[in-house]
Amino acid sequence: MKIGIIGAGIVGSSAAYYLSKFGYKPVIFEKDGVATHASGFAQGGLNPNVNPFSIDFKLHKLAFKLHEEIKSDSYLKNLLNPEYVKKSIILLATNRKEQLSFKPLLKIFKNTSSSIKWLNPNEIQDIDPRVSNEILGGVYCEDYMEVNALKLSELFVKASREMGAEYVLGEVDNILVKNGSVVGLEVNGYKENFDVILICSGPWSTLLLEKNHINIPLFPLKGQILRLKNTGLDFKVAFSWGKDYLTQKEDGFLWVGTTEEKVGFDHEITSKAKELILNNVEKFFPEIKSLKIIKQTACLRPVTPDNLPIIGKTNISGLYIGTGAGRKGIKLGPAIGNLASKMILNKDLGLDISHFSINRFL
Ligand SMILES: Cc1cc2nc3c(=O)[nH]c(=O)nc-3n(C[C@H](O)[C@H](O)[C@H](O)COP(=O)(O)OP(=O)(O)OC[C@H]3O[C@@H](n4cnc5c(N)ncnc54)[C@H](O)[C@@H]3O)c2cc1C
Repeated sequence: MKIGIIGAGIVGSSAAYYLSKFGYKPVIFEKDGVATHASGFAQGGLNPNVNPFSIDFKLHKLAFKLHEEIKSDSYLKNLLNPEYVKKSIILLATNRKEQLSFKPLLKIFKNTSSSIKWLNPNEIQDIDPRVSNEILGGVYCEDYMEVNALKLSELFVKASREMGAEYVLGEVDNILVKNGSVVGLEVNGYKENFDVILICSGPWSTLLLEKNHINIPLFPLKGQILRLKNTGLDFKVAFSWGKDYLTQKEDGFLWVGTTEEKVGFDHEITSKAKELILNNVEKFFPEIKSLKIIKQTACLRPVTPDNLPIIGKTNISGLYIGTGAGRKGIKLGPAIGNLASKMILNKDLGLDISHFSINRFL
């Protein structure tokens, strides 16, 4: 079976990895380079604590299990270290509404995880005195992990190629369909036959689908991040509040962000976003003001209206899709790639993924 994958972000590269592990030699097509979009610029935060009553709980569990497997695989680590680190995170309550919203979650997690607890402002300042007095407390979680998102996708591609997968730099213009079935694709001006095609093209997935009359409400949501040079003590713990966060990554820089901008496919950095991010962070970490900005990045998350990913078959035989993980794509990406691969190969998925079917939008 000849399998083509469109897109070498976290989803496409992990799908290539799992298909290769199952003994296939997929061809990965990528228009701009491995993880040159969201998968290469994401913060790489992997939060294991998901509400056990949520629809995607089992998907998150699988995702975390796969990350743990990759993390402990010494062959992969020698090939390219994706820099997994375990650390704690404090989810700050910066207003009364947030404080109240944590209460039911704490109740749920009290029964499922011993590593989560409520901290009052003094306890948080004992951990890091740079947190301002304005916070009302926070939820302390021990099992948080971070990864170098760029290196993780690069690792998946590298490992796949070691097993015989092919990587082609080129933009797929069309998916070729005959009598309701995939027959191939058009790339760099030539046509190539395929039995199966997996679209993992992030927010651009819609463009390829539309050409085959499949319209889904997937959209790009721009996010910007600043990397700052920390001249003070290391931040040992990560912090998040609302849609923002501050964490010191393995590169030594403080990564702070982020924005949520619905501006189509524009992915330029803006000074407006820079000011917004700095203002939001300075409110709770006043010392940040004096730090030098080393880098500002912007990229596009693939988002669905119900914030759930899209995984599986389309209404064209042989055409599959894996995308739509929004703000959680680095965490969920390997699970989406893994499940899409198993679906293509008719293997047992181990969980019900009907909630993630593209049919919910058709
Ligand atoms: C600021 C920011 C911070 C984030 N932080 C986190 C985080 O901490 N934790 C987390 O879990 N997630 C995070 N995310 C989300 C995560 O980055 C994304 O959900 C994830 O990277 C999406 O991966 P993907 O493979 O679906 O898409 P992409 O990374 O966009 O990859 C799709 C690839 O397909 C290629 N492509 C598109 N069309 C074609 C074509 N026609 N032919 C060939 N190639 C094509 C593109 O060039 C691209 O490389 C963050 C996102 C942003 C924006």
